[in-house]
Amino acid sequence: MKIKSKLLILGSGPAGFTSAIYSSRAGINPILITGSQLGGQLTTTDKIENWPGDSKSLTGSELIKRMRDHAIKFGTKIFYDHINEVNFNKKPFICKGEKEYISDAIIIATGSSARYLGLSSEQLYKGKGVSTCAVCDGFFYKNKIVAVIGGGNTALEEALYLSNIASKVYLIHRRDIFTAEKILVDRIFKKRNNGNISIYNNFVVKKIIGNDKQVSSILLESTTSKKEKIISVSGIFIAIGHIPNTKIFENQITLKNYYICISNKYNKKYRTSTSIPGIFSAGDVSDYLYRQAITASGFGCMAALDAEKYLSSL
Ligand code: FAD
Ligand code: NAP
Repeated sequence: MKIKSKLLILGSGPAGFTSAIYSSRAGINPILITGSQLGGQLTTTDKIENWPGDSKSLTGSELIKRMRDHAIKFGTKIFYDHINEVNFNKKPFICKGEKEYISDAIIIATGSSARYLGLSSEQLYKGKGVSTCAVCDGFFYKNKIVAVIGGGNTALEEALYLSNIASKVYLIHRRDIFTAEKILVDRIFKKRNNGNISIYNNFVVKKIIGNDKQVSSILLESTTSKKEKIISVSGIFIAIGHIPNTKIFENQITLKNYYICISNKYNKKYRTSTSIPGIFSAGDVSDYLYRQAITASGFGCMAALDAEKYLSSL
């Protein structure tokens, strides 16, 4: 089945939905492909405290639902599909998932996915004690002991979330300085002093141990003394950053360190242009620096305005 549109948007995170809201209000009638992670990364968090205008508690899923409803209201058509193959060498562009999509312009907003440690034991225990999403899997660790790996915003948020479910949370970070926001670091120290969080700084995970069906402990190594230590845990939450979802664009558009390059050097008129005229990009997939919901939305707005200008120039 072939589906034609002027504008195809890949991704259903804040960047994709914001592009959709702007371009549908401009009368372009875009098609948005959700990808397999419906709603993107925000759906993996229970609390958004920095979305402007929402000072009361807001979950990631609520925010995304509002964006989706907003896009639909102005005429965006949503397809629950995942693109596996693209051909950007000729126009119109072709993207293939379960269906084939043909379009004059594209906004790539495919975001990023959780990074793993790269241990073979980690692969073995994926879904059997190893997770990258506390909001999705934390429930299974009620009154159990868990570990969170990482020192950025995600790791600290995951540790705080799990501390309300698990009996104990070990936060394991390879350095002695957290890169997370101060407000989160303060909350972690408070829970370390008065609650159930223990911090292991300057430690890396060497191995995840279990009986092939379930995790029982992890082997840690000190980055300073090289001494090893085993701690008993039922679950391990890996929160060590994300990798942009660009595999299908390799050899099609210019990438740098897996991120899509966007610049007005490709065309002075468009800030969100990729190396191919007519293909624009927004959000975490082309942003190695800020990676916030609001910046993804901001880029989504810019890409929609650029795509609109490009389409009217054809
Ligand atoms: P994503 O949200 O990653 O969405 C990408 C979309 O692309 C997904 O829908 C996916 O299904 C789709 N996709 C991927 N590949 C394909 C394909 N081949 N075909 C079609 N579609 C595809 N930021 C904040 O500002 N505040 C917070 O409180 C906050 N909390 C966070 C908590 C956690 C646990 C995490 C992981 C991140 C958090 N962030 C937060 C960061 C924020 O979630 C991201 O910056 C933001 O979601 C990026 O939006 P995006 O639209 O670029 O990409
Ligand atoms: P991040 O900021 O890139 O942090 C990754 C963390 O993992 C760092 O502490 C890093 O340590 C560590 N790490 C990386 N590779 C490792 C490895 N192989 N082994 C052990 N540790 C490793 O990633 P993130 O925390 O997922 O955040 C991603 C983006 O989303 C950020 O821009 C963040 O601000 C945003 N976000 C925002 C919020 C919020 O606003 N509340 C919440 C979550 C995420 P080093 O420091 O040593 O490199």
